[in-house]
Amino acid sequence: MLRRLLSAFALTLLVLAGSQDCDAQSRQTDAKESGKNTNEPASVPPRDVRSRNFLLHTDLNDSDAKDLLDRLETMLRLISRYWGQPNRKTIECYVVKDLKNWPEGALPEPNGLASIERGAGVTKTVTTQTAAGQILAATSVVFAVADRGTPQHEAVHAYCGQNFGRTGPLWYAEGMAEMGNYWVEDDPHVNCPQYIVDYIHQSEPKSLNDIVNSDEQTGDSWQNYAWRWALCHLLANNPNYRDRFRPLGLAMLTGQRASFEQVYGSMAKEISFEYLFFLEHFGVGYRADLVAWDWKTKFRAPRGATLVSAKIASRAGWQATRCLVKKDSEYEFSAVGQWQTDAESGLCTADGRDSGKGRLIGVLFDTDAYELSEPFELGAYGKWTAPRDGQLFVRCQEDWHLIDDDNSGTLDFRIKFADRGKSLPDPRDETTKSR
Ligand SMILES: [Zn+2]
Repeated sequence: MLRRLLSAFALTLLVLAGSQDCDAQSRQTDAKESGKNTNEPASVPPRDVRSRNFLLHTDLNDSDAKDLLDRLETMLRLISRYWGQPNRKTIECYVVKDLKNWPEGALPEPNGLASIERGAGVTKTVTTQTAAGQILAATSVVFAVADRGTPQHEAVHAYCGQNFGRTGPLWYAEGMAEMGNYWVEDDPHVNCPQYIVDYIHQSEPKSLNDIVNSDEQTGDSWQNYAWRWALCHLLANNPNYRDRFRPLGLAMLTGQRASFEQVYGSMAKEISFEYLFFLEHFGVGYRADLVAWDWKTKFRAPRGATLVSAKIASRAGWQATRCLVKKDSEYEFSAVGQWQTDAESGLCTADGRDSGKGRLIGVLFDTDAYELSEPFELGAYGKWTAPRDGQLFVRCQEDWHLIDDDNSGTLDFRIKFADRGKSLPDPRDETTKSR
């Protein structure tokens, strides 16, 4: 809307007003939502409640209103630090618990009322700008139902609208609004609600291209926000992409010529692979920063009797062994040392525990198709025949969302052709252990 207004009138007017709506559809309810102060009515007649950065018009009771303001202030502190831009202007929000408490005309925006009637939210941003598109001033007003996520989601739009005059392209605006909603300081874990995880795992994955280049409208659904959030969470946390993500976001927010394609075009295959991998394996607690794919390590096929070796950590996802394997060739491998998946289980070898936890497992990466084989078990020592060509990656077996700072220990992994040269010592053999 903003852009169309601009191109139509840019030549004739010096100063224009633009407006932009960012919308959210109703969410599933959350057990933590409201109602914890049983001696207070859930809603009261609407009045104004203030905090440092927010002016709330709300019918929430005093303690729920205070709780919401605390969460909004915390979130604002985190996002303004992330974008390096302190909030300059009070953010005005209408947060509605029960529309029956609101006299007719109390909500000064038809879109706002309509959105709340649908159990959702909208942020109205009005900008004043020069003919050249320079934004002189911007004012955003939030309208939201008083559920757990919507006011916070909309407040991210309002912060971006007022401080940058823009909220960025749809995938970024909505993805980051959901990020803001779930943000915990200095915490890279996934901590979205479980219903988001369940929804994504039950759905056919939406492609990267569908998200970044879609012409879906804002306010489409929380389901669509979930995919955009997933992409933003990955790009913001995975060390392969995170250094470029914040500058890209800032450039899009400040109206510089910048796009996903410009910044990440050359890495599109890698991002697409890691994004689909994230969708398949993430859960509450997942550490996208720890399990990033290793695109840098060079692989080679073992020659003659030579060994290929690598250090493999418990506190990581699939790791490069450096070994390029050939279909139907037989290999001999060993993994020396101990590691642990958590303090409670304690140390174990690459054979792992009876449950399979802690066992060394492998997977083959197809460098042409960017596809993985089914994972297979390896353990501390043995022979293994490659089911196909590919790069051999290995890891310590544990549920993906449990790989965390309680994982420790590193193994020395070695692999060679089974029928050439001297046999590798078996690390389970006492004599080789005490060498
Ligand atoms: Zn939104």
